[in-house]
Amino acid sequence: MIQIHHVTKSYSRGDESVMACDVDELEVHRGEQIALIGRSGCGKSTLLSLIAGMLLPDEGSLRVLDVELTDLSESARDRFRAEHIGMVFQTFNLLQPFTAVENVMLGSVFGKGGGRGLRKRATDLLGDVGLADRIHHRPNEMSVGQAQRVAICRALINDPSLILADEPLGNQDRETGREVLQLLLDLAKQQNRTVVMVTHSPENASQLERIVELVDLRRAS
Ligand code: ADP
Ligand code: MG
Repeated sequence: MIQIHHVTKSYSRGDESVMACDVDELEVHRGEQIALIGRSGCGKSTLLSLIAGMLLPDEGSLRVLDVELTDLSESARDRFRAEHIGMVFQTFNLLQPFTAVENVMLGSVFGKGGGRGLRKRATDLLGDVGLADRIHHRPNEMSVGQAQRVAICRALINDPSLILADEPLGNQDRETGREVLQLLLDLAKQQNRTVVMVTHSPENASQLERIVELVDLRRAS
């Protein structure tokens, strides 16, 4: 599903260059569920952006679903992501003018199950995460934890084969976090979806099949 080889990504700020991400080897199999952990600033979000094709590495090879992302144009990477990847961003990226159910529907691309079927699916997903009575609320009319669950539903609306989630439970209380995580993992398992999830919670990480500590992936120098 994911094969990363010798990938680095640095940002330049003026004269200095900041190494944001350095991964020597990482392989994630189809259907595998991995927790990505590491200290703040160690490059977890950057790695998710690379796997999603939102950033290109400075060097190295990055294959997702047998496609070498570094060979694709930006628009081809955008299409690839829309078709195959569901993302939950650390900052949710919900659209304020739209209600919960509309935000979930807006995640839909290429008319996959469009029209009334789409609204029903969005409504069902929101019900699954305990938001049946909030589907017409706008993001600013919900708690942060509720908005985060809307973002999770939006990531699932296209039936992605790969789910990339950046601290998707960071704003949930312990009980809700556990329930939403279980739901996400169960839904993924049923469809053999792959999950890469960044988390700071050892309890949440332990629910996934494999825990990867990002610093351990660095090239020996
Ligand atoms: P994490 O998600 O693990 O907290 P990030 O992937 O967000 O870490 O960031 C990795 C490193 O790259 C950090 O040290 C951060 O300061 C730096 N960084 C991230 N984005 C930029 C940017 N746009 N310009 C310069 N440095 C950046
Ligand atoms: Mg981050």
